[in-house]
Amino acid sequence: MTDNYRHQGLRRRLVEQIREKGIRDERILEAIGAIPRHLFLDSSFVEFAYQDKPFPIGSGQTISQPYTVAFMTELLEIQRGSKILEVGTGSGYQACVLLQLGAKVYTIERQRQLYLKTKAFLPSLGYSPHFFFGDGYKGLPAFQPFDGIMVTAGAPEVPEALLSQLKTGGKLVIPVGVQTQTMLRIIRTGEDTWHRENHGTFRFVPLLKDKANDI
Ligand code: SAH
Repeated sequence: MTDNYRHQGLRRRLVEQIREKGIRDERILEAIGAIPRHLFLDSSFVEFAYQDKPFPIGSGQTISQPYTVAFMTELLEIQRGSKILEVGTGSGYQACVLLQLGAKVYTIERQRQLYLKTKAFLPSLGYSPHFFFGDGYKGLPAFQPFDGIMVTAGAPEVPEALLSQLKTGGKLVIPVGVQTQTMLRIIRTGEDTWHRENHGTFRFVPLLKDKANDI
């Protein structure tokens, strides 16, 4: 597990590309500049790690595009100590960005193999979110309410459970749609009121509902 000058140089270039695409929050750019993304990909793909592209991570899943990670993180407007739920742990890269910003991170994954792999790997880099294996459609009722919830898979609709697990003022960032997804930011404005914004079109692997996956 090395992180050498070449990797660091490639990472600086990636940060500049993301900045040019419109990310303004310096804390997020710093986080992307700090996290060794090449270690999240299979070793044979190291040269792709610092392109601004999504990439396969096994079990039919992908590590999200760095720009998308940055964009969704920006929409959450995280403060130090914010309590954040991430649905779709995957490689753990997004969770590391949230931790790097000082958030308390709860992350849930439904593919057991990925859950186990990422739970073992992240602490070796010094990142320790709270890991959960299960269906993120239901959120994490035992740990609610959250300042922010981020769904990193394409959801066919907005899961009600996630709306109800936000604090007042809390934000849900979720790509909704089947073929392509609309990035929604939904802010809880009161006990029974939510404000919804549309932030453009993206493409994600699907959020799967009610399917246990133990392979
Ligand atoms: N955040 C990840 C991107 C993961 S891709 C990263 O930074 O690498 C989306 C992930 O969502 C996949 O790992 C997929 O298995 C997971 N997923 C899909 N449906 C889910 C569900 N209902 N609950 C939890 N995780 C789910």
